[in-house]
Amino acid sequence: MTRKIAILGATGSIGKSTLDLVERNPEQSEVVAVTAATNVQELAAIARRTNASLAVIADESRLADLHASLEGTHCQAAAGRGALLEAAAVEADLVIAAIVGCAGLEPVMAAVNAGRTVALANKEALVTAGALMIDAAETSGATLLPVDSEHNAIFQCLAGSDGKGVSRIILTASGGPFWTATADQLREATPEQAVAHPKWNMGAKISVDSATLMNKGLELIEAHYLFGLPSNQIDVLIHPQSVVHSLVEFMDGSVLAQLGSPDMRIPIAYALAWPERMETPAQRLDLAAVARLDFEQPDLDRFPALRLARAAMEEGGSAPAVLNAANEVAVASFLNGRIRFTEIPRLVERALEENRRAAPDTIEEVFEIDGDVRRAVAGAVEEMCA
Ligand code: NDP
Repeated sequence: MTRKIAILGATGSIGKSTLDLVERNPEQSEVVAVTAATNVQELAAIARRTNASLAVIADESRLADLHASLEGTHCQAAAGRGALLEAAAVEADLVIAAIVGCAGLEPVMAAVNAGRTVALANKEALVTAGALMIDAAETSGATLLPVDSEHNAIFQCLAGSDGKGVSRIILTASGGPFWTATADQLREATPEQAVAHPKWNMGAKISVDSATLMNKGLELIEAHYLFGLPSNQIDVLIHPQSVVHSLVEFMDGSVLAQLGSPDMRIPIAYALAWPERMETPAQRLDLAAVARLDFEQPDLDRFPALRLARAAMEEGGSAPAVLNAANEVAVASFLNGRIRFTEIPRLVERALEENRRAAPDTIEEVFEIDGDVRRAVAGAVEEMCA
């Protein structure tokens, strides 16, 4: 059966890995819509290759370029927020949510409200509006399939069970490029070093999040909403080989884990073919060659972002949205060379202390919190640079 799929964030790292699988298995999927933020040329090339019927560029000033680049195809070009929401809610069997950051929240909610099956890579959307999104999915009948490798691993370990009997889940983390760095080395870390992840090839923002361990913090919150577990049932272990993608411990003491090469095409394929499986070109796991698997506790002193994220999850309310907004601004400021690596968690901590609000009841309230915190953290960055 051919499944219709929409790819939000088609030009990014997850988007391209998804396209690689789709193009290797053309009989399995039909791409109906693709989106990007600004990258017109790449988006048009993808739309041409896949024969998509709708291509949306978020930046409205680039619509004329997109029209020109799609000339001679039957693909409709559109731009802006409304068009992005239209692409998210398009008639499709599966929506790949691979926009980076809170910018993906409205499109993900549009897909969820339309009752779609959503393969969710865009963790920031769930972190900022987790309770609202889970409620919306229950109301509309939407299904959320986790694409993040850790959550996908847990989802695989839970297949065939109703989630009962789980005593805890254990998210693994590679530790990122600075796991063995000293405090001085962390202070001097450059954007180039931070994006050079030892195991995974990813977009810039998530690579910096992996280096601060904020990525694992966002994943804690993601797991809390996806699997309905409290903080004391979600642990994190550093596992530098990135072979065991996460584990589930059951009440009888059994522990199930999902293993594989560190290749995002494996979890993406699971979501694409779910509830079945499909072939991928991912390297097969050679455990004898890997030889050893190490695990250790995370160091919350050198990597305070993980501690801050757990505290935000436990506090609930608006705290996860505040954490995420502050982190997005801090990471962008670091990537632009304006602040030091070690200032990222400091800015997040300050934002959490200064922005205590009631839990958002609507997506509009989430955006209000997000906007206020972004402005406050941008102001703090200006002060630091003055
Ligand atoms: P990339 O930065 O590589 O790609 C982001 C995509 O989103 C691009 O298509 C980009 O378009 C689009 N985009 C960016 N900003 C906006 C915006 N404001 N409005 C609309 N579209 C936008 O990110 P990744 O693929 O690395 O990550 C995507 C998501 O998946 C993130 O939430 C990340 O945490 C998560 N994830 C990623 C993994 C990975 O291996 N990369 C692993 C697990 C989770 P354009 O190209 O035009 O800028």
